[in-house]
Amino acid sequence: MRAASIFREVLGGHHMVVEEGKFVTETVPVKGVDDRQEQVLVFSVRPYARDAGRCSRCLASCPGYDAGAGLRRWRTLDVGTVKTYLSAPAPRVACPEHGVVVAAVAWARAGAKCTYTLEDTCAWLAAHTALSVLTVLLRLSWRTVAAVVTRVVTERAGRVDQLEGLRRIGIDEISYRKGHRYLTVVVDHDTGRMVWAHEGRNSETLQTFFTALGSERAALLTHVSADGAEWIHTTVAANAPNAVLCLDPFHVIAWAMKALDKVRTRTLATQAGPRDRNLMWAVRKNPGDLTAGQKTTLAELEAVNAELFRAYLLKEQLREVFRRKGAEGHALLSGWILWARRCGIAEFEKLCRTIERYRTLIGHTLDHNVTNARSEATNTHIQALTKRAYGYHSPEALIGMAMLTRGGLCPPLPART
Ligand SMILES: [Zn+2]
Repeated sequence: MRAASIFREVLGGHHMVVEEGKFVTETVPVKGVDDRQEQVLVFSVRPYARDAGRCSRCLASCPGYDAGAGLRRWRTLDVGTVKTYLSAPAPRVACPEHGVVVAAVAWARAGAKCTYTLEDTCAWLAAHTALSVLTVLLRLSWRTVAAVVTRVVTERAGRVDQLEGLRRIGIDEISYRKGHRYLTVVVDHDTGRMVWAHEGRNSETLQTFFTALGSERAALLTHVSADGAEWIHTTVAANAPNAVLCLDPFHVIAWAMKALDKVRTRTLATQAGPRDRNLMWAVRKNPGDLTAGQKTTLAELEAVNAELFRAYLLKEQLREVFRRKGAEGHALLSGWILWARRCGIAEFEKLCRTIERYRTLIGHTLDHNVTNARSEATNTHIQALTKRAYGYHSPEALIGMAMLTRGGLCPPLPART
């Protein structure tokens, strides 16, 4: 095998001719100290004749325009331990549809500074490992990773229609950046995939989703689950005439948790009893997950803070409503409302009024067995993404990352399909 063919394979097997490889000295800026000199590998390559002169947006064969900005470099995976680049001319072509654009190359996406192999490896790692590991391993900045993920997701989302075959969906609003900004997210309950996300939380944002879905496919929706937001309810009713609207159980439980936290803070200010973190977790956790210490705390609580203990029981009983579902769930819910309405705990009487207001939608949830596991998992995941050191400066980067991990758009590792 000729060296050129060996290198073509080593460099990812792209459609390209490897002309030569050489070591070049690169200056790497290092924070706080003098720049470092580093030996890097640069391979001069060129496209196959049949791939040359194509539009980078539509791949149509086009007449040449000019030489563009001359030689361009693309980072690719290291060869062994050596940082490696491909180098090639980047001429421009005149596409009848897209105007004067840079010619397509077989080894990199349009506008990318890295090759397919490096970008796909980066996206795969972003979905499977800590970003702090990935940036060191691939020698890429946070910013580059965000751009790569967005580009990979956009390309893969364009290949398959994410909105095809939707029947039961969950619509959720998720806060990012300390609650001031929101994403509206759509999850497919049947596959568990996040299928759509957009910045904002209002009826116009959601209307964008229904416009993309189209009225024919919207008419096929049978169930839509959401939180209590009125703008979601009205937009769904206007666009999906055949869908039963359900209230996502995890939002209802979250309301109960909030009420419980308020009772805890209020009663602990005036009443005796255990005040440590143990108590917080004891009243918040599922009974099955309690540690022995937390069980003791709860038993103690019953004796010294009866109000908080009753609030705890109300929260657990509400959870049970969604666990049982169906006729049993309905009966439990009626019982819960009778209890909560006159429970003497202001926070839960207020919660009771909210629940009565949404009773029809909660009833749909109990009747149609809409599981909320997927929307809850997606919600939790996006919350976790926003908390990563990364920072996710733009909603596009956050959506890209979420579509990569929750939307099934993660590429396979190069050459591992
Ligand atoms: Zn074109």
